[in-house]
Amino acid sequence: MRKLVVVIMLLSLFFSLFPAIGQAASVTPKLYLNGKLLETLENPRIVDQSTLVPVRVVAEGLGYEVGWKQSDKRIDIQDASNLITLIVDSRSASVNGSTVQLDAAAMIINKVTMVPIRFVAESLGLQVYYDNPTKAVHLYKPADSSTGNGSNNGSGSGSENSSGSESSSGNGNSNTGNSSEGSNNNNTNPNVQGTLKSVQFDGLTSVMIDYDGTITPNKAFTLTSPDRIVLDLPNSAFASTFIPGQVVVDSHPTLTKIRYAVGPDSPTTLRVVLDLKTASSYNVSQQDGRIQIDVLDPAVVPPETTTPTTPGTGSGDKVYKVVIDAGHGGKDPGAKTAAGLYEKTFNLSIVLKVKELLDKEKRMQVTYTRTDDTYPTLQDRVDIANKLKADAFISIHANSFTATTNGTETYYNRADSKPFAQIMHKYLVKATGLKDNGVRFGDFKVIRETTMPAILLESGYLTNATDAKALFDSAVQSRIAAAIVSGLKEQLKLQ
Ligand code: ZN
Repeated sequence: MRKLVVVIMLLSLFFSLFPAIGQAASVTPKLYLNGKLLETLENPRIVDQSTLVPVRVVAEGLGYEVGWKQSDKRIDIQDASNLITLIVDSRSASVNGSTVQLDAAAMIINKVTMVPIRFVAESLGLQVYYDNPTKAVHLYKPADSSTGNGSNNGSGSGSENSSGSESSSGNGNSNTGNSSEGSNNNNTNPNVQGTLKSVQFDGLTSVMIDYDGTITPNKAFTLTSPDRIVLDLPNSAFASTFIPGQVVVDSHPTLTKIRYAVGPDSPTTLRVVLDLKTASSYNVSQQDGRIQIDVLDPAVVPPETTTPTTPGTGSGDKVYKVVIDAGHGGKDPGAKTAAGLYEKTFNLSIVLKVKELLDKEKRMQVTYTRTDDTYPTLQDRVDIANKLKADAFISIHANSFTATTNGTETYYNRADSKPFAQIMHKYLVKATGLKDNGVRFGDFKVIRETTMPAILLESGYLTNATDAKALFDSAVQSRIAAAIVSGLKEQLKLQ
C-alpha cells in the first residue's frame, strides 16, 4: 500500500513542474513514473506556473494514502514515514508537522481536487525531472527509498505488458499498486537489452555514455531554437544505481549541458540531449560498453567532406615522411607523477625507443621535433611537419587529471586523421595494458594545424598511480614504442 501511495505522489509532482507560459497552460504534460507513462482521468493543469494534478492521481497513480476532510477542506497525503497536509485554496501546507509555503495552493477545479505535484512529490522524496523540449515530467522513486529490494523489483504488470505507451494507472487500486512497483529497475522488461550506467563529460570534447548489455543507438539528430543534439537509445533502461539527471558543462565552447531521461516516445527508449550555444558538428562512436559523442567546436570543425588521405599503397619503393613529436620538453615539463617524474621525460623516452626501431626502416624517413630535453614551441612543431609535407604526424604525451582517472586515449582533430587514430589506438591500448578510453576528438594545436593525418597519444594518466607505474616501466615503454611502429606501418600500408 505504501508503494501505491508513493506513486500517486509522484504523479502530482510531475504536473507542478510545468510552467504556465503563454499557451502552455493548454498543454497537457505527460507524466512518467520510473519511465512508465501514467494516464490520468482528469487532465493536469498549470496554474500560477505550477502544475496541479488531480489528487486521485496521487492516490491511484502514485499509490499514496489520501484522506479528505470536507469540513475544513483538508487533504492528507501519507506514506509510512511522511504526512503532508494541504488545505484547498491555502498556500500554507504542512510536511510532517512543519509549515511550508507553496507557490500554488491546492484547489478545486470543475469539482476535481487538484494538488501541486512538485511540492507533493518532493516532500515525499521523489526525484523530479522535467524535460522542457518534450513537455514530459518524469518522476523517479529512488531505489533505496523503499523498505527493501524486493519491493522495488517486483516488476508490475503495467510495465511488462505494455511495451511502451499507456500503461493503465487509473483502473483501480489493485492494478495501479502493481504498476507502480518494479519500475525502478527495468532490467526485467524483455524489451530492455542494455542499462545505462553513467553519463559523463571528459572536460574536453567527449560525452561518454557507459552501459551494460547491448545498446544500439538510433542515428543522432539535431534540433534548433535552442540548438541541441539528440541521441535516442532504444531498448534501454537506467541501471538501478543511476537515475535521470543532467551534467552542466562550463569548459566547452558550445556544449552547455547534457541531459538524460526516459524519452518521449517509449518508456524503454532513453534520450540523451546535448544543449548547445550554437550549432556544432559532432561525431558518435561506440566501443565496448561506451557510446561517445564528440562535440566539435564550430571554429575547428573539420569539413565532413574531407576525403581521408589515402594511405600508401605499399607498392613500389616510396619513402614516407613521418614526424614524431615528443610532447613538452625543456622549460615545459608537462604532467607529473606523485613521485615527481615528468611527462617530458616519458615522452622523450618513448620517442627515443621509437627512433631506435625506425632507424632500421628504409621506407620511412623520420623527423623528430626533439631528441633531447629542449623545448620547440608548438608552432615550431607544426611548421616542421607542414614544411616537410609529411605523410603522418604523431605527438607523444601522457595525461593528468584526478588520481582516480586512468586509461589510454588517442586523439585526432581533423576528420582525415581519425582513421589513423583508430589504427594506432588499437596497438597502443594493447601495449599499455591500461584502461581503454577510446579514440577521441581533441583540440590540440599540433594535430589541428598540421596538414597531414595527425594524432596525439595520451598513453595514460601520470596522476594515477597504476598508470604512472606502467608508463615508467621500461618493458611497457618498449611495447609502446613497438606499437607506434606497428600503427605507422599499418597506416602507411608498409606491413
Ligand atoms: Zn602532454
